Amino acid sequence: MTPDFLVIGAGVAGLRAAIELAEGGNVLVVAKDSLQESSSQYAQGGIAVALSDDDEVELHEQDTLYAGDGLCDRAAVRTLVEEGPAAIQQLIEWGAAFDRDESGLAFTREAAHSRSRVLHAHGDSTGREIARTLYRRAASFPNVTFHSYSAAIDLLLDDGAAGALWYDAAAQSTVTITARAVLLATGGLGRVYANTTNPDVATGDGVAMAWRAGAEISDIEFVQFHPTALHVEGAPRFLLSEALRGEGGLLRNHSGERFMERYHKLRELAPRDVVARAIVTEMQRTDTPDVLLDLTHLDGTFLRERFPRIFETCLRYGVDLSRDPVPVRPAAHYAMGGVRTDLDGRTNIARLFAAGEVASTGVHGANRLASNSLLEGVVFGARAGRAMREASSKSVPRTCRAEPFTAPCQPTHEMRQLVWERCGIVRCGDGLRLAIQQLEEERGISTAFTPERTEARNVHQVALLIARCALAREESRGAHFRTDFPVKRAEFEKHSVISKDAGIRFQ
Ligand SMILES: Cc1cc2nc3c(=O)[nH]c(=O)nc-3n(C[C@H](O)[C@H](O)[C@H](O)COP(=O)(O)OP(=O)(O)OC[C@H]3O[C@@H](n4cnc5c(N)ncnc54)[C@H](O)[C@@H]3O)c2cc1C
Repeated sequence: MTPDFLVIGAGVAGLRAAIELAEGGNVLVVAKDSLQESSSQYAQGGIAVALSDDDEVELHEQDTLYAGDGLCDRAAVRTLVEEGPAAIQQLIEWGAAFDRDESGLAFTREAAHSRSRVLHAHGDSTGREIARTLYRRAASFPNVTFHSYSAAIDLLLDDGAAGALWYDAAAQSTVTITARAVLLATGGLGRVYANTTNPDVATGDGVAMAWRAGAEISDIEFVQFHPTALHVEGAPRFLLSEALRGEGGLLRNHSGERFMERYHKLRELAPRDVVARAIVTEMQRTDTPDVLLDLTHLDGTFLRERFPRIFETCLRYGVDLSRDPVPVRPAAHYAMGGVRTDLDGRTNIARLFAAGEVASTGVHGANRLASNSLLEGVVFGARAGRAMREASSKSVPRTCRAEPFTAPCQPTHEMRQLVWERCGIVRCGDGLRLAIQQLEEERGISTAFTPERTEARNVHQVALLIARCALAREESRGAHFRTDFPVKRAEFEKHSVISKDAGIRFQ
């Protein structure tokens, strides 16, 4: 297969890029699972944008920089907040139906935002509405083709060409694709952890593939843990949006005591990392497996109408939000770091681009401001698409070289548990060293390709990248907290950059 452009991933970033690329040639969008299985589809709370009458781009910028804890790339933040309003207007023109009230678009407020600037759709299905809109637009171009159930295994980069080896689940065979340029839009890496809000597809494939191909990976130690994921036996770690606390939800321990006032003056609306650590501390202190999110004092009809998807999902697992406090605990949620790019999605490898959660522009710094990532996908996905159009069509060889396939024999669930315990919300040097040692232990290497082993290889490599960079960052900042270095240190006000050939540096 030789499209002009290959887009790996069909979330908001990949779809938005495909729309731009349609002007430049044939586009092939591949997705590992169905086109509907992505973090984008599960995004509930909303998309942040400075569009309301009392808001300003500068305020959105300030809030993003503050959340990023000294590590945001200022140019990236400026680009996000400045281009955000036009990007949203365009989505509306393409048919996105954001919720409205009597005064127009309905903006809600989320933690660490100084204004009400979060747009939502169908209450708590914002990502699904944006992805639906973008898919419809992208699919309206005859030169944009989609392949679902097609997992990219490795990037093929040789002599300035780009491509990928992918596994076609329907045909049960591997296929080679070469193109003028490749976009990694593979989303996050939550599935590297035993507890995560992310869908099954989020195994960090893009970071692992890029790493193997020699790309620079930046700030990968910064993983955001969402404080409130559903904790019910047999249920997935379904996210209970911050907006529930924004609307008055209270956190209690199993004695019924509100505990957040002991940890932060903003109580339930403290920054995510603070709430997540407070919950872990409270669970340890009271020796309980979770805490309770209490919404029982709020009106049941309001809850059902404002959060229809959350309400129905909790009911399915036997929890009635209007009557039962919900058992919750933190879970891995969002990767601030990823494949290092400039503001147009360019990586350090010619013809290889990245956008969305897999990329690291530096826009989130050490901690992401809630609801900034859908906006990131839309803004930086479009920019990457435009930049890729410039990739020359000359001298693209028909075939590229692939690395021989090797994968570790460690069971994936063991690795995920290890990463959760040692590279999770609270870290320390000894734990991180132990994680590295156990991940590096010789447990055998498999050269027989299977889709499962491909994922195991990616989980293993991403876990090692997180552990190594978390060990090298001897401070606590944003979402990265170390008990042996509990404060921020000026010498680490830098991005970590790690690559296969050059090791780790801070810059
Ligand atoms: C439960 C939940 C709630 C969230 N709520 C919000 C919110 O309210 N607001 C907000 O701004 N952000 C939210 N986020 C974060 C946000 O949804 C994501 O950061 C964003 O949608 C990522 O978009 P993306 O296009 O980069 O990746 P995704 O939407 O995750 O798409 C990734 C795509 O890559 C494909 N893929 C992955 N690996 C491969 C491979 N090897 N080969 C082929 N295809 C591959 C997948 O199949 C998928 O199509 C939430 C995330 C979750 C999980």
